[in-house]
Amino acid sequence: MSNLTETILLNIISLKPTTRAEFDHARTLATRKLHVCLPSNRTLLEAYQNLVKKKSIKSDPRLEQFLQKASIRNLSGIAVITSMVKSFYCPGKCVYCPTEIRMPKSYISTEPAAARALQLNFSPYEQMQRRIDMLEKNGHKCDKIEYIIKGGTWNAYPIRYQYWFILESFKACNNLTRQKPISQTKEKYWNNKLIIELQTAIEKEQRYNETAHHRIIGVTLETRPDAIVPKTIQHMRLQGCTRVELGLQAVDDKILALIKRGHTVKQFEDAIFLLRTA
Ligand code: SF4
Repeated sequence: MSNLTETILLNIISLKPTTRAEFDHARTLATRKLHVCLPSNRTLLEAYQNLVKKKSIKSDPRLEQFLQKASIRNLSGIAVITSMVKSFYCPGKCVYCPTEIRMPKSYISTEPAAARALQLNFSPYEQMQRRIDMLEKNGHKCDKIEYIIKGGTWNAYPIRYQYWFILESFKACNNLTRQKPISQTKEKYWNNKLIIELQTAIEKEQRYNETAHHRIIGVTLETRPDAIVPKTIQHMRLQGCTRVELGLQAVDDKILALIKRGHTVKQFEDAIFLLRTA
């Protein structure tokens, strides 16, 4: 980080902006005064973080908000982080759903989140840590995370894959707190192990996560109404699921049949009933 950016920031601070408009104006005035190009908010944020670290300035939540790229992303104080599961079979045959060979069903590799996941080989650990890193570099707090897992039908994935994906996601968060990070595991490491061992490992990570710097406070899983049965609900609970996305496409059986959705409105209602009462 150049001292010049820190000088620009100190100039901005000296103008005491109280609104985003005033901050933008102060930024323009500071760069004009110093005859330099307008730095990005991200560069200024890095300068701000350095200055706070050096105790040259006090931390200022309002200034941090002005420097954030998109403060709307965690306006509620909760960072939303999305990861994507690997390419896999989906029992659905919905006519509108895109299929791309290397992607999970219904996602195409040109979507930003999907492209990121593909680049990281759908590693739950890497997806979580990269996203936290990116959000924090842009000034967003990630101490409370609403975690959304996207791609295909969650319950159609092998049960060990489901548990492993969640385990590694929690571990990715926890390792940012741990003095000695725990090694990642590959999916195949669990192939010959009992489900109970995976469940125990997840429980341990979930407990650690309760006091970690990056806490997952909610887990959303995507699935189909006809995949909701008592057994799947039990697994989803143990995985830490707090919200299920069922994706009702229409409230008319004729339309559901036409789009080959593969379930009826009644099945959707039954799934909701089961989720509420299980
Ligand atoms: S259930 Fe979802 S992922 Fe599967 S085919 Fe239908 S829309 Fe696509």
